[in-house]
Amino acid sequence: MDFKISENQKMIIDMIQKFGAQYISPFVEQWDEKQFFPIEVFKKLGQLGLMGVLVPEKYGGSGFSYTEYITAIQELSKLDPSIGLSMAAHNSLCTGHILQFGSEDQKQKYLPKLSSAEWIGAWGLTEHNTGSDSAGMNTTAIKDGDFWVLNGSKNFITHAISGDIAVVIARTGDKGDSRSISSFIIEKGTPGFSSGKKENKLGMRASETAELIFDECRIPKENIIGNEGDGFIQAMKLLDGGRISIAALSLGIAKGAYEASLKYSKERIQFGKPISQHQAIAFKLADMAIKIDSAELLLYQAVNKKNKYEAVTLDGSMAKYYSSEVAVQIAVDAVQIHGGYGYSKDFPVERFYRDSKLCTIGEGTSEIQKIVIAKQILK
Ligand SMILES: Cc1cc2nc3c(=O)[nH]c(=O)nc-3n(C[C@H](O)[C@H](O)[C@H](O)COP(=O)(O)OP(=O)(O)OC[C@H]3O[C@@H](n4cnc5c(N)ncnc54)[C@H](O)[C@@H]3O)c2cc1C
Repeated sequence: MDFKISENQKMIIDMIQKFGAQYISPFVEQWDEKQFFPIEVFKKLGQLGLMGVLVPEKYGGSGFSYTEYITAIQELSKLDPSIGLSMAAHNSLCTGHILQFGSEDQKQKYLPKLSSAEWIGAWGLTEHNTGSDSAGMNTTAIKDGDFWVLNGSKNFITHAISGDIAVVIARTGDKGDSRSISSFIIEKGTPGFSSGKKENKLGMRASETAELIFDECRIPKENIIGNEGDGFIQAMKLLDGGRISIAALSLGIAKGAYEASLKYSKERIQFGKPISQHQAIAFKLADMAIKIDSAELLLYQAVNKKNKYEAVTLDGSMAKYYSSEVAVQIAVDAVQIHGGYGYSKDFPVERFYRDSKLCTIGEGTSEIQKIVIAKQILK
């Protein structure tokens, strides 16, 4: 593994820092407060090539590897984790599903629009009663001549309201049978397809999360992705890669909270010296640095394998589990280091604290990651 930052990574970091200073950082607090999804930022990220990072250039994407992808997510998440989450959901899930499993026609039709962010993508697996146990889903897709007819709903879906297109996983056979699940592309405006309640969330408030509803929603039969019955396997394979992006998101939060703490602890004077000179605070900073480097090593191990098209079920879950747990611990310590100011909105750490918790839940909870890891090491 080569740990040197490449020219591409440098270019992405520099580009995001410049872009963020103008279009993200000044607005983060108000977006969080108002729970505002800044769709225009994503349109601009599309112009920068960050909404189709992994998509080959022939489909309008940037054609980068996972190395550049996780660099972009981390850098955006240091500024605003909500932007990192939405960018990751668009790239890894909706776009990623079509890229990995779509037909040539589907790729040509949808990937250029998604890569430029002319269209924002959503991806629906979770339902009210089936989150971790997603194979037990209730949403159905029944064949009717040249159409599939969908009924049911998906909840906690990123971009469920603002998305122009959704990849939706639905049951096409017996309930509970993972081989009776298929995936479909549904465009906004299709009769019977609507969005429902927007979640009022603890954190990640600028990333839109809402419900998708299907009421006798008829879509052309060619909108199925791959073969009937392949949807659940596709979703699980996709999440292997998606979890790497959540690890990067977590690491961005951890680094943001750490850097803010480092700065504050050198400036804040108590008992006649900077608080960083009190060993209790210095040790917290040391623990943060160790955790960040350890998480980064796990992340790069997963990325290295992903770039070589090797299986990343184990490595992706390890990176996701560890980085997300560490992000929460670091965000908690960052608030502590800032004292009362850490509890106020004058500093970013209270937001990192709230945002970090999503990382141990989305794309498979920490408990589910441990189940995946245990299965892999015990096989
Ligand atoms: C902000 C946000 C954005 C999201 N975006 C999307 C999206 O775009 N698309 C999408 O499809 N979903 C999305 N989700 C849903 C997310 O993936 C689920 O919330 C997550 O998978 C957990 O499912 P659940 O909420 O139903 O929890 P549950 O599955 O009900 O879990 C509740 C608790 O039980 C534990 N648990 C469950 N099963 C086991 C077990 N076998 N052993 C031990 N413990 C267990 C869990 O770890 C957890 O602690 C999003 C969620 C959030 C909060």
